Amino acid sequence: MRYVSTRGGSVDRRFSEVLMEGLAPDGGLYVPTAYPKVDDATLRLWRGLSYAELAFEIVSLYIDDIPADELRAIIASTYTPEVFGSAQIVPLRRLDEQTALLNLSNGPTFAFKDMAMQLLGNLFEAELRRRGAQLNILGATSGDTGSAAEYATRGKQNVQVFMLSPHGRMSPFQQAQMFSLQDKNIHNLAIEGSFDTCQDIVKAVSADLAFKQQYNIGTVNSINWARLLAQVVYYFSGYFQATIDNSERVSFSVPSGNFGNICAGHIARMMGLPIEKLVLATNENDVLDEFFKTGRYRVRDSNETMVTSSPSMDISKASNFERFVFDLLGRDSQRVGQLFGTELSQHSQFSLTAEETARIASYGFVSGKSTHVDRLQTISDTWHRHRIMIDPHTADGVKVAREHLRGGSRTIVLETALPLKFEHIIREATGRGAPRPASVADLEQRPRRCEIIAPSANKVMAYIAQHCTP
Ligand SMILES: *Cc1c(COP(=O)(O)O)cnc(C)c1O
Repeated sequence: MRYVSTRGGSVDRRFSEVLMEGLAPDGGLYVPTAYPKVDDATLRLWRGLSYAELAFEIVSLYIDDIPADELRAIIASTYTPEVFGSAQIVPLRRLDEQTALLNLSNGPTFAFKDMAMQLLGNLFEAELRRRGAQLNILGATSGDTGSAAEYATRGKQNVQVFMLSPHGRMSPFQQAQMFSLQDKNIHNLAIEGSFDTCQDIVKAVSADLAFKQQYNIGTVNSINWARLLAQVVYYFSGYFQATIDNSERVSFSVPSGNFGNICAGHIARMMGLPIEKLVLATNENDVLDEFFKTGRYRVRDSNETMVTSSPSMDISKASNFERFVFDLLGRDSQRVGQLFGTELSQHSQFSLTAEETARIASYGFVSGKSTHVDRLQTISDTWHRHRIMIDPHTADGVKVAREHLRGGSRTIVLETALPLKFEHIIREATGRGAPRPASVADLEQRPRRCEIIAPSANKVMAYIAQHCTP
């Protein structure tokens, strides 16, 4: 399998190069030259596989530069009941006749980002070993991504992580989860500023090419193709658990921010998984809902981006979205370059033509939006009717899924985090605390490692220079 850029720059990459590189040189995103098609006989064969076996079958269609035995071993050591809490890895839980939850949040940090990040950490380690190289990962987080990245790389010999977070602004649980890590290769830098400030610092450091090269700086952000690929697997697993036969069709509802999670669903559908609808749910930050309803993509600036009670979906632009538009426009990289390269950077928005907009339906996408009041009501309703507690992001997915149900249709809602990460709103909605696994009973009491740093790229660079492995 070869990879090209959505913007058509003349690149021809294999998986391991794309894994380490992130963004393509022309500013586009890497995509495979084609999506392998899966027929009915293959689906029948895959139905009986364990999660790790299924993951190997799917992922190996896209990777031809890691020996099969090695890839199989990496995947088998990633998706284990010890790490993900059950033999199914992503168990399906029925809510009612028409809706079910796919539990993607039983990994080490209790958010679905572990599903991809745990594999990414192991792939990085193997590739760096092959190259005899060291990597210093620099990232910014408002909560879930940073902790998923840290738990996926803790204790690894050839990786150091420098994770910037806005000082005092993550939820108490999220802070405790990251700052309690004692591994020497993990560095928590609490920046005296907002999440945007943290992101600006990461951008400034990455733009210093000499520094970036000297210290081998890399990223783990959501545009990395390997993360998307890992996420394709649970759509297949969810489908197999929800159906007995491949003639059945189900929809998926996905709480969305950067469009990574639902983009994996799009890929599964392109491969031939019988997905009826991909239901995209946003919170008050409704950039994507607006696009799927009108064909207009208008990114917001930071003072237009609201702080909500489903904070992991508080985005101003959706970093993975370009991959879907590339497919929607018939893989016309010139048009994609015009929209994302030119129009978006000049006007912060673009509009598809009426003819292009009309194609959205044939890709199965519908969308909707959920607000704080909807979230409270959905958490409370799900608790009282089903005795199941859901987190605020998953609640957005349930709310929008219900709006799109038709007679006889069935929807799997992706559970993107456990409620214990967001205690405050859970108490507000249900009057009680969220259940807590024994493994984190004393999390807030553990000693913490965290460096408070002024909002300055130079200060961060000095810290990295002092603490990294060159
Ligand atoms: C990251 C995240 C999302 C959004 O996922 P995208 O892939 O960015 O669309 C939703 N919910 C939770 C809990 C998250 O951590």
